[in-house]
Amino acid sequence: MRLFGKTTLSEFLGDNVVWRNLEPADPRLPGLSAAWREMGLEGPRVPRKAEPGYARAIVHLLRQAQALAAPGTGLSRLLYVGDTRLLDGTAYQNILEASGWPGLAFIAAEKLAEPPRMTREGSIFVANRWALLGDFVREAERAGLPLAPGTALVLDLDKTTFGARGRNDGAVDRARVDGVRETVADLLGPGFDQAAFDRAYGELNQPAYHAFTADNQDYLAYICVAIGAGMIAFDELLREVEAGRLRDFAGFLQAVEAQAERAEPRLAALHREIAARVAAGDPTPFKAFRRREYLATVARLGQLPDDAPPEVRLREEILITEEVREVALAARERGVLLFGLSDKPDEASTPTLEQAAAGMQPLHRVPTHAFGA
Ligand SMILES: [Mg+2]
Repeated sequence: MRLFGKTTLSEFLGDNVVWRNLEPADPRLPGLSAAWREMGLEGPRVPRKAEPGYARAIVHLLRQAQALAAPGTGLSRLLYVGDTRLLDGTAYQNILEASGWPGLAFIAAEKLAEPPRMTREGSIFVANRWALLGDFVREAERAGLPLAPGTALVLDLDKTTFGARGRNDGAVDRARVDGVRETVADLLGPGFDQAAFDRAYGELNQPAYHAFTADNQDYLAYICVAIGAGMIAFDELLREVEAGRLRDFAGFLQAVEAQAERAEPRLAALHREIAARVAAGDPTPFKAFRRREYLATVARLGQLPDDAPPEVRLREEILITEEVREVALAARERGVLLFGLSDKPDEASTPTLEQAAAGMQPLHRVPTHAFGA
């Protein structure tokens, strides 16, 4: 494996990218809020990746994108590349069902300690090397799914097209934790205790607490704010969760409400804002945190010099997966429709209007190094 030059996801995806809200970066493609009826959805609620509605929206977007890119050539085949068997596998199967196209999927997580292996489960190939993507493409060709006009190549972005799972995914997580830490530090000011934050975040981020946190980073970030601000003691929180008296984030908001009202005005206002968004069903209610996550992610794209040691680069910098990039460039050359899917909240992926006016770019247009076999 080696370092390649700096590039962007838009080199091969253009603006054929959607973040969590299913609003394409290409302004010519109407997104979910405008086109949910045409997508066959029952309303403008954004479906999550494993829901059938998500696949219906994606199939609609693929057809619209194809109509722009190659009018007169309909889509008739699907290739899907991702990093998680369950989530990507489900999204892929749902897209096949919603479209009626034949397809194949490649799901990889690098495990260099094992011998290279690719196994087939139905129409899903599961590999322990990103470099096996080339073999997958040849298998697809033999199965009548060539890189040719009429094929859609759907690329999962997070931990697939950049931050490859098993190789570089830690850098993606580090950017998110940077975002949480900077948000909490900013809100607490001089009262911020880094060691106490690391202890609380490290403990509550574990799967044992997923029933309480719903594995939701917005919730976790606010819980860390509340602990740091003294609305609830960390030990008491753990006892209450253990005893089953604190079951979920809504219960947590209630439990600290009286303390939050007595906190300084900025924290009291934040508590009210988050409580209102949670009550309205917003799964990413901590907007300030997601804005910080965007900045922290941009800060980890392409930031290291060309001569940084590889192990430092793989840990610290979010890199484009060269194996995926090469297949994507070849596919683009041969008239395949490429489309990128990200589960990142839009606030964590795109600049604000002011940031955009200052020249900041959405994540798919921020240059970083490509790295791979
Ligand atoms: Mg992923």
